[in-house]
Amino acid sequence: MTKTRPLVSSAEHARLAALYQVSHALGASLNLDETLRIVMDSAIRLTRAERGFLMLFDPTGALVFRVARDAHGEPLEERQFEISRTVVNQVAQTGTPVVTTDARNDPRFAKHDSIITFALRSILAVPLKARGQITGVLYVDNKARNALFGQEDLDLLGAFAGQAAVAIENARLYTQTDQALAARLAELQTMQTIDRELNTALETAQVAGVMLGWALRRAQAEGGWVGVMEDGPEPQLRVVAGSGPAVSDQFALGALVSPYHPRLQMAFTTGSSQKFGPGTAPLGLAGRAAPAAVVAPLLREGRPLAVIVVERQRRPFDQAAADFLMRLADHAAIALENARLYAALKQANDTKSEFVRTVSHELKIPMTSIKGYTDLLKMVGPLNEQQEQFIGTIRNNVERMSLLVSDLADISRMESGRLKIDLRALDLRAVLPEALNQSQLRSAMAAKQQSLALELPPDLPLVLADEARLGQIITNLISNAYKYSPPGAPVTVAAQAEGGLVRLSVIDHGYGIAPADQAKLFTQFFRSEEPNIREQTGWGLGLHITKRLVELQGGQINVQSAPGQGSTFAFTVPIAPSALTPGD
Ligand code: ADP
Repeated sequence: MTKTRPLVSSAEHARLAALYQVSHALGASLNLDETLRIVMDSAIRLTRAERGFLMLFDPTGALVFRVARDAHGEPLEERQFEISRTVVNQVAQTGTPVVTTDARNDPRFAKHDSIITFALRSILAVPLKARGQITGVLYVDNKARNALFGQEDLDLLGAFAGQAAVAIENARLYTQTDQALAARLAELQTMQTIDRELNTALETAQVAGVMLGWALRRAQAEGGWVGVMEDGPEPQLRVVAGSGPAVSDQFALGALVSPYHPRLQMAFTTGSSQKFGPGTAPLGLAGRAAPAAVVAPLLREGRPLAVIVVERQRRPFDQAAADFLMRLADHAAIALENARLYAALKQANDTKSEFVRTVSHELKIPMTSIKGYTDLLKMVGPLNEQQEQFIGTIRNNVERMSLLVSDLADISRMESGRLKIDLRALDLRAVLPEALNQSQLRSAMAAKQQSLALELPPDLPLVLADEARLGQIITNLISNAYKYSPPGAPVTVAAQAEGGLVRLSVIDHGYGIAPADQAKLFTQFFRSEEPNIREQTGWGLGLHITKRLVELQGGQINVQSAPGQGSTFAFTVPIAPSALTPGD
């Protein structure tokens, strides 16, 4: 076996091994502070230095101390930061390393203040370079002994610095991304809470209040207000919410920004939030200290809907506050638009209800008159058969019209919440026979040879209901039962107590309802397409009104039906409290 000469000396070997070890350790952490500590301790250990300093460029381009430690791994205090600024600056600017074995006698540095004042001797400083840029300086020194560092140390520290700079840069980017992600996540969560609050607000003032509350809190503002654009020949802002020291001025402000205040207009036209420092306030009023402000417009399809303004008397706002306000404005714009639409819809609905109410009231008078005169015509007779028939047709059609008018009036009253329900304890055994005995109902059924039976148990408890509305429900259901049954088919009304309720059923043996149609029952204007049904007159409003009347009295309605077999409409009414026994 031939003996091979080692490629590197044993001292060099030991150093390379140390370098390998530290580069391994460097990859172990992505935490910036930890990485900086590892770099510093490793640099001290590799060069056998007494102290080590690491400086990094901050975003403004200033070189700042990030870590300073001694050979025992202890952090140094600020007063111990006695290093040669000249050496550091030279390395940072030129990107070339510096080694000096006795700085006090080195012609390059001997004259410099820090070398003299701090009695500096052996210094080793290398640049930290990552992605082709100088990111900082690694500096180790020894105050007590001369000639500690040599070219070998410089090479070793240079090699190490290359790896260290990349590890630091990675940790810095990772920490930055991590922090940015955490901040973004926190903001998303906040936005989610804000959205939830905004979505429950239906009125403009409520939306503005929620938005202002969050804006003041998050931007740590002392005051603020929300103004909504009012349409008109001259666009105007109406202040709908306000808080803080500026509150007393808000109404003045609302008037002041008409037409747009130039600064507001700037926010509107650029579509971004605007920051104004103290003294350059957008809305400075005479006699009022000029505040710092952020103005953010709420835009919908590029159109300004409103504006939110937050103010501080002295401290300016940072960019984060302006960004937050802009995002808040984006979210609130949707809620504000919804609130506007809701208000418009409510107004349209109110107008419609009012219109129907007026028209139905006005129609009642001439219809009563037509009815009266047709009755009179019959009395003043003699009429021939054809005249009788014509008058009968007029009478029937006026009857249909007055039913429709009263149904429409009921619907408009229910929609506007004006329908009054007068709940009283009622005895169904007295109320139901009376409702069933209406002459019109009886004669219509008699014409189709249909019987109407009433099945009531003797111990039926009193119910809590509105007598007239209960009669209306029963009449609607019976009139459907006989209308949608062939001649001769009987109709039954039954009642029974169940828990705290009485269930009333109207049972027919008529045409029945197809399952697909059952799903559409109770909606306004629904009528089945079946010819049997269509040949009967009707508007498709009766069941809709019936269901709402049942629910207004605390009950529920349902149907069981099969085509060709008949239908059972059943609804519940609460038992009157005095009629309830403790067991119920
Ligand atoms: P209208 O009777 O004026 O059509 P309703 O609202 O009372 O209006 O009824 C809506 C529709 O429900 C009817 O057109 C019919 O198709 C169906 N319907 C209601 N009651 C019955 C019933 N007892 N039997 C069969 N179909 C019915």
